[in-house]
Amino acid sequence: MRILVIEDDAALCRQIANALIDGGYAVDTCGEGTEGEFLGATESYDAVVLDLGLPGMDGLSVLREWRAAGNAVPVVILTARGAWTERVAGIDAGADDYLAKPFQMAELLARLRAVLRRSSGHAAPQLTCGAVVLDPRSNRVTRNGEPVSLTAHEYRVLAYLMHNMGRTCSRTALSEHVYARDMDRDSNTIEVFIRRLRRKLGRDLITTERGLGYRIDPPVAEAARSTADG
Ligand code: CA
Repeated sequence: MRILVIEDDAALCRQIANALIDGGYAVDTCGEGTEGEFLGATESYDAVVLDLGLPGMDGLSVLREWRAAGNAVPVVILTARGAWTERVAGIDAGADDYLAKPFQMAELLARLRAVLRRSSGHAAPQLTCGAVVLDPRSNRVTRNGEPVSLTAHEYRVLAYLMHNMGRTCSRTALSEHVYARDMDRDSNTIEVFIRRLRRKLGRDLITTERGLGYRIDPPVAEAARSTADG
């Protein structure tokens, strides 16, 4: 999963980025509104952390531009302490959640996990597919209850596929969601990560749709239930 952080306080921006990288996300940062708006409109993000007071274009305008263009990326806004009118304006402009400064990094991470969960239609905090369980709270992956050690990239590929369970994800989409912008992106490496994930988590977990990409299917019981529901 890949997150964009738009925050003009350079120290805070770096602090947020480091916490997100530790949390298993690919992260792009930006300290200015106009560039931030452009990045959000042109790159593929799973969520955005958006400060409202920004040079260039203010955060509310950034958010309004995205929503007017139909960009539904989940957004958590950062507001000044006590500025309740800002929070109301932010939520009305299309923010999914907010956090007033100063805040604890752990709370920002929890709010991001919640908006990511909602945007992918999952209710439980853990993602489960058969014997494999991914817990975004700890970045831990287990198979039959046994911890499995994954590299940061393997984890991001797995997290993206599990958040998008039942959907086929192309190699291009996967590389856009597991690498930050300044990384050398090569969609061929995705194949390598998939091969390693299969070796560590079982051959059947990830289905290859030839020419289209990869997919993790929801557990059978869940799939049957959703079919029954129509
Ligand atoms: Ca600011």
